[in-house]
Amino acid sequence: MTEDLFRHDSYLTSCEATVTGVLDDGAIILDRTVFYPTGGGQPGDSGVLTLAGGETLQIQTTVKGTDGGEILHIPAADQALQVKVGDSITCQIDWETRYKHMRFHTALHLLSVAVPFPVTGGQVSDKDARLDFMLPDPDFTKESLTETLMGLIEQDHEVSTRWITDEELDAQPDLVKTMSVQPPRGSGKVRLVAIGDVDLQPCGGSHVRKTSEIGAVVVAKIENKGKQNRRIRIRFAD
Ligand SMILES: [Zn+2]
Repeated sequence: MTEDLFRHDSYLTSCEATVTGVLDDGAIILDRTVFYPTGGGQPGDSGVLTLAGGETLQIQTTVKGTDGGEILHIPAADQALQVKVGDSITCQIDWETRYKHMRFHTALHLLSVAVPFPVTGGQVSDKDARLDFMLPDPDFTKESLTETLMGLIEQDHEVSTRWITDEELDAQPDLVKTMSVQPPRGSGKVRLVAIGDVDLQPCGGSHVRKTSEIGAVVVAKIENKGKQNRRIRIRFAD
């Protein structure tokens, strides 16, 4: 089981760790990590592992292992350096990319407030982010939705997390907005992300501390995805 430091502090950019496993395909398991593994519509982190001697290994992405609690750091191709179990390393994420993921991820939670319809899917990247809604007939335009979203961002709500048990979540099914992304279960508790008093939903992803950190975003596209569905894509304004 990898200790998931990023789940408790999304602003950690590096940590010391020990290699606890190296799989046949080269994937590296650490005892603790700041690398977020792909999940919940947020890409896995890239970054670098540095050995005590200063040699470095580029990590292309991070995914969850099939064993649940393990996090796999996937090295970029064509690197000679091998790490082995017991090695002490420093792991450091590509913060510039991750911070964009965080800004977009929090922005998508606010988009689900601005568009109060069931969410059927979503994806964050460092270029843009989207949510799919079950929404037959939007009563807004790109421009008016941008205005609503920016209004929420500029209210500068605090973003916080807290944990509830699986049973508490089962008792409040309306907390789950995203039908396609079920909150991670199995550990007996689920993390909730609260944005001021405007939004509360289960989410394991990385978020900014205050909505003002999102900065200026625009609704770039509202696409038809069938009669019942609309895909709404946002970008940073700059
Ligand atoms: Zn989320």
